[in-house]
Amino acid sequence: MRVIVVGAGVLGTMHAWHAVERGHEVLHIEREAEARGASVRNFGQIWVSGRAGGEELATALRARELWEGIGARVPGLGFRAVGSLTVVKNAAERAVAEAATRRPDAAARGYHLLDAEETRARNPALRGEFAGALWCERDAAVEPRTAQRALKEHLLASGRYTYLGGREVREVVGERAVRDDHGDTHHGDAVILCTGAWLGGLVRELVPDLPVRRVRLQMMQTDPLGEPLTTSVADADSFRYYPAYASDALDAMAAAQAQTPTAAAHKMQLLMVQRADGGLTIGDTHEYETPFGFDVVEDPYEHLTGVVESILGRPLPTVRRRWAGVYAQCTGTTPGPDGEPVAPVVHREQVRDGVWLVTGPGGRGMTCSPAIAETTANGLNW
Ligand SMILES: Cc1cc2nc3c(=O)[nH]c(=O)nc-3n(C[C@H](O)[C@H](O)[C@H](O)COP(=O)(O)OP(=O)(O)OC[C@H]3O[C@@H](n4cnc5c(N)ncnc54)[C@H](O)[C@@H]3O)c2cc1C
Repeated sequence: MRVIVVGAGVLGTMHAWHAVERGHEVLHIEREAEARGASVRNFGQIWVSGRAGGEELATALRARELWEGIGARVPGLGFRAVGSLTVVKNAAERAVAEAATRRPDAAARGYHLLDAEETRARNPALRGEFAGALWCERDAAVEPRTAQRALKEHLLASGRYTYLGGREVREVVGERAVRDDHGDTHHGDAVILCTGAWLGGLVRELVPDLPVRRVRLQMMQTDPLGEPLTTSVADADSFRYYPAYASDALDAMAAAQAQTPTAAAHKMQLLMVQRADGGLTIGDTHEYETPFGFDVVEDPYEHLTGVVESILGRPLPTVRRRWAGVYAQCTGTTPGPDGEPVAPVVHREQVRDGVWLVTGPGGRGMTCSPAIAETTANGLNW
């Protein structure tokens, strides 16, 4: 079988991976020379900790397993089973962490409540003031800036994979074929469109009412820290954004302490992960209203710097890079394990005969892509 994959972000690349693994030929088409979208701009967090129970958690755990296996075969991914610490500073925040450890699926996530001393033992770089942390053993990290290229090199070595960069797919033509902006038509047995947050043009023509929105985030990266940050780190504001932490304790925390005005205005949390070169990737903000700003604004960076310095107990290394990224997120809901409405893991839709659009994994796309692509492959009997 010949599979055409459009879009060389992590979702397209993982579809290519599963097709090649199953013995098929892949033609991979990307409008830029290399991936340029959300997949190279993210934290590289394989983030199990905050996932909603049920399908979302199952997908993240399966993906975590796949990432580890792929990472063993593709060292350039930089897969590291670092786990994460969500640092808590007072009793209200600690209560949210404690409630999380009482979830029925807490053991699957590897949740443990740590006091301040145990937190420092796990991550000696954390010398600031805090009361403890929620440890999530299953969280991991990869290197987003190099991951797609490393996967591409591995796929090229299979002899069944062709990469066509600098070609924008403009049209689905006839059955199972696409035309690019050079006027070339490519025929396959299946076409998978993984075009990320590019929701206009081709995608709008195929699905005018796609239940997916765009979300913009601001990020930064520092010089090397000069010591290992042995785990990923989050602050208690992150409890507010992830479905796994919904609890009476979270409601009490939110009632007792508002976010700072900057954090509230930019819908912020702290997430921090150390890169292979020792630098720290730090974020983030969330912007939902379009048109998005074309510039990055400074207030969120000042806020994050303060939060990080309070946890590290030292000045932040010099910031070397600042950027923004946009991901696509499903807007609909689907029934969760107890019938409650939860966000779908991804939007997967057959848009023409033999042509599927897979998009909208949101802020968990880097985590879940290997498992999302596996589900596509299984569903199509590859
Ligand atoms: C700042 C930021 C931080 C994040 N952090 C995390 C994280 O730590 N963990 C996590 O799990 N998720 C995270 N996410 C979410 C995650 O990055 C995305 O969900 C994921 O990368 C989406 O992958 P994708 O392949 O669908 O899209 P993209 O990576 O955007 O790739 C789409 C590709 O398709 C190409 N393309 C589009 N249209 C065409 C066309 N017509 N023809 C040819 N090519 C086309 C584009 O050029 C692009 O390269 C983050 C996102 C952002 C923005």
